[in-house]
Amino acid sequence: MQSLIEKKCLEQGLKMTENRKIVANILSNSTDHPDVEEVYKRCLKQNPNIGIATVYRSLKIFEEYNIITKHDFHNEGRARYEPINDDNHHDHLIDITTDEVHEFFNEELEKLKEKVAKEMGFELVDHRLDLYCRPIKK
Ligand SMILES: [Zn+2]
Repeated sequence: MQSLIEKKCLEQGLKMTENRKIVANILSNSTDHPDVEEVYKRCLKQNPNIGIATVYRSLKIFEEYNIITKHDFHNEGRARYEPINDDNHHDHLIDITTDEVHEFFNEELEKLKEKVAKEMGFELVDHRLDLYCRPIKK
């Protein structure tokens, strides 16, 4: 089956090699915002001959075509990736003790973002919010 990323690539006329398809498929099915190393590890299970440079290049191209987005979650400069899905806007909460990323959506917060922009004389066109947290000890 065609993955979401592969579908978008084809729509934009990108050539899909077998390896690129694997990278597209892995990231389309990942919900944990993996970094390059992690995507690479998962790709190896489908093709033990795939190189990390290929994975890196594929991610870079997908990013250039606005098909995936790169996050800097302050984890030692290791960028993490996720597919762009306009129907699924969300913010991120990062557990700094585990590097785990949780997604959330808060209607009030969304309205507040627009309000802040408007009060400063701007129309909000894009936004992202990352919360860095540690679990509350009980
Ligand atoms: Zn996310």
